[in-house]
Amino acid sequence: MTSFHPPEVLLLGPGPSPVAKRVLDAMARPTIGHLDPRFVGMMDELKELLRYAFETRNTLTVPISAPGSAGMEAAFVNLIEAGDKVVICQNGVFGARMRENVIRIGATPIMVNDPFGMPIDLGKTEAALKAHLGVKALAFVHAETSTGVESDAAALCKLAQEHGALSIVDAVTSLGGIPLRVDAWGCDAVYSGSQKCLSAPPGLSPLTFSDKAVSALKSRKTPVRSWFLDLGLVMNYWQGSGARAYHHTAPINMLYALHEALLMFREEGREAAFARHRQNHLRLVAGLATIGLDLLVAESARLPQLNAVKVPEGVDEGAVRKRLLTDFNIEIGAGLGELAGRIWRIGLMGTGSTAESVDRVVHALGVCLGARQA
Ligand SMILES: *Cc1c(COP(=O)(O)O)cnc(C)c1O
Repeated sequence: MTSFHPPEVLLLGPGPSPVAKRVLDAMARPTIGHLDPRFVGMMDELKELLRYAFETRNTLTVPISAPGSAGMEAAFVNLIEAGDKVVICQNGVFGARMRENVIRIGATPIMVNDPFGMPIDLGKTEAALKAHLGVKALAFVHAETSTGVESDAAALCKLAQEHGALSIVDAVTSLGGIPLRVDAWGCDAVYSGSQKCLSAPPGLSPLTFSDKAVSALKSRKTPVRSWFLDLGLVMNYWQGSGARAYHHTAPINMLYALHEALLMFREEGREAAFARHRQNHLRLVAGLATIGLDLLVAESARLPQLNAVKVPEGVDEGAVRKRLLTDFNIEIGAGLGELAGRIWRIGLMGTGSTAESVDRVVHALGVCLGARQA
C-alpha cells in the first residue's frame, strides 16, 4: 500500500461541495494542543464568524464535532424529553430523520406531510399546532436537499412562537447559500453542516441556540440522554471564561478549515454570496433548457444551491451520472426515496457555485444525452 492520492473531481452533488485550496492549506497547518491559549483564541473567532453566518447574537453558537446529522441529534436530544409532543413537517428525506430522533427520545411526533418537491404548507402546519395543545417544538427543514425545495422558515418560526413552541430548524443546506436570519426570524435551535454552502470538508456541524432554547435546556426535568451531545457540557468547553473544562479533544485541523472557510464567506459578504448562488442557478436553468432539461420544483420554491433536474423519459440516470464521473470528473447526485431514478441533483454550493461549474456540467450532460440519441 502507498499514500492515497484522490483525483480532482468537480463536486456538484448534494455535498460535499468543492473545498478551496486556501481551506485545504489551512488544514495542513501544525496541529497544536486544543487547550493551547492560541487555539482557544481561534475558537473565539470561529464563534464570532458563525454568528455572522447565522445572523445572530446567540451566545450558544458552536460547531459540533461531527457531521450535520449530529447537529440534528444535538438539537432534539437537548430540547426534547420523553413524553413531549413535536410537530415535524416532512417534505423530503430529512424530515423522516427528525421523526426517528423524536421516537428514539420517547417523545411523540405529530407529522405534517407534504409531497416531495413541494414546500411545507403553512396552513396545515398551523392546523396541527392548533389541534394539539402543549406542543414542545416545531421542527422543519429549511432547504430540503433531497428535493431542491426551500420552505418559508421565517413564517414557520413565527407560527411556532405564536403557539408557544420552540422552533428547530435544519439549515444544513441553507447556511451560506440563501438568507437565514436566525435573530430576525426568531429561530430557536438551528444546525448546519460544514460541507454544503460553507465549502469546508465534512465533519462539523455549526449550531446555534436562542436564549429561549438555552432556558428550555436548563429547565429540563431529566438529564440529556446523550453524554457527547449534551450542550451543557459542550458549553463548558467552548465558553468557559479562561479555564475551559476538557470535554472531548476538538478536531483541531478541521476547525482551522472551518475558520478559513467562514473567513472567505465574510470577505465575500453574506448578501454577495447569496446573489452569486442565485445568479449561477439562473445560468444553470437557462443552460439546461438548451439541452431540453427542466427542473422538478416550481420556480417560486427552487433552491439556487440544489437543483432537482427531471430525468427525461427513457434515459438511464445512473449511466449518465457514471459517465459524468468517469469521462468528465464531475459528480452530481441521484434522487432519493420516491424521487430515485426520476431526478438528478445538481448542487451549486459554496465555492462550487461558479459560471465555470455551470458551463462544465451543462456541456457534459449535453454530450451524455446526445450520445444516447445517436
Ligand atoms: C446533508 C444534510 C443533512 C445531514 O448532514 P450530514 O453532514 O450528512 O450528516 C441533514 N439535513 C440536510 C437538509 C442535509 O442536506
